[in-house]
Amino acid sequence: MRAMVFAEQRDGKLKQATLEALTVAHDLADTVDVVCVGDSQFDWHGLGVDKVYQSGAKELGNYNPITYASCVQTAITKASPNILLGIASPLGRDLFARLAARLDCGIVTDAVRVWKDGASIQATKPMYAGKCLATIRLLSEFSVLALRPNVFQPYQKDSQKTDRDAAVEELQVGLPDTQLVTREIRKGSSEKPDLTEATMIISGGRAMANADNFQILHACADVVGATVGASRAAVESGYAPHDMQVGQTGKTVNPNLYIACGISGSVQHMAGMRTSKTIVAINTDADAPIFSVADYGIVADLFVAVPAMQKELEKMFA
Ligand code: FAD
Repeated sequence: MRAMVFAEQRDGKLKQATLEALTVAHDLADTVDVVCVGDSQFDWHGLGVDKVYQSGAKELGNYNPITYASCVQTAITKASPNILLGIASPLGRDLFARLAARLDCGIVTDAVRVWKDGASIQATKPMYAGKCLATIRLLSEFSVLALRPNVFQPYQKDSQKTDRDAAVEELQVGLPDTQLVTREIRKGSSEKPDLTEATMIISGGRAMANADNFQILHACADVVGATVGASRAAVESGYAPHDMQVGQTGKTVNPNLYIACGISGSVQHMAGMRTSKTIVAINTDADAPIFSVADYGIVADLFVAVPAMQKELEKMFA
């Protein structure tokens, strides 16, 4: 089996979850190629990559669904992989759905488990706001698979398949004439990792009561390098910007540690965070639904519990 990994990058940096896609690709296939679109180049040596299809045209610096799909499609035509893997990031979801439609093939987005079953590939993905896991068998000869970030182990350079030479082939793509142009990408002000890539998240809900109170969460998060998130109620109340929203209509996160502060645990919020590896909930209401998914529950006022937790963390990380 031959796999191709779409290497997602931002600001010239490879997204860490691309290495997770490489792990899955190596588990499934004997030969793994990479397609890399954009003006940055990465060192693929030691990652078991057979060939890198690179398109570095300057028009490709910012994501554009039409031009990116054309580049990736050209690479697929050249390499004839059985599967294309990438990250179920906003970019990945957009690009992979477009490619599946163009190539009339099977697609799974947000996969949390992938395995080979004879000649076919199967994957599980959360459905109905994470209430159940669906198992999907991919039957088409070529399929696309977008993986939920932070679920799989990133591929390590010192693994066994390091003998490939990762030969680079520059893709000559006649870019389609499109009116759709990404003129500017506005970045959030935070220096912290994006919520979708964060390994630790501390989120606040409606109980934060105002935007200033979010400083309590930021101060605690700074001690351990966590990223701060929010519920939709907090966002809609104007306490936090939308890019901090976790949930069905916000971001899907999967950190090692998720601390929910003053968040009741609606199905829509839990859809975005219930696969976090360890969940801590702080809530004054012992019957709040968030406790049903929490590994550790603290029935307390967050304005007391969070500063106390911060002090303890400061001692641990001193
Ligand atoms: P509340 O439900 O009001 O909960 C506040 C909690 O704080 C309560 O449990 C309370 O006991 C506790 N509390 C109060 N004071 C304190 C204190 N001092 N210390 C500790 N605890 C305290 N929501 C999302 O979050 N993300 C989404 O993406 C999302 N998408 C949606 C999509 C749709 C189509 C719809 C209909 C809704 C969506 N929602 C989403 C909204 C969701 O239904 C809930 O309204 C929202 O999640 C509630 O946010 P909350 O838990 O912060 O607020």
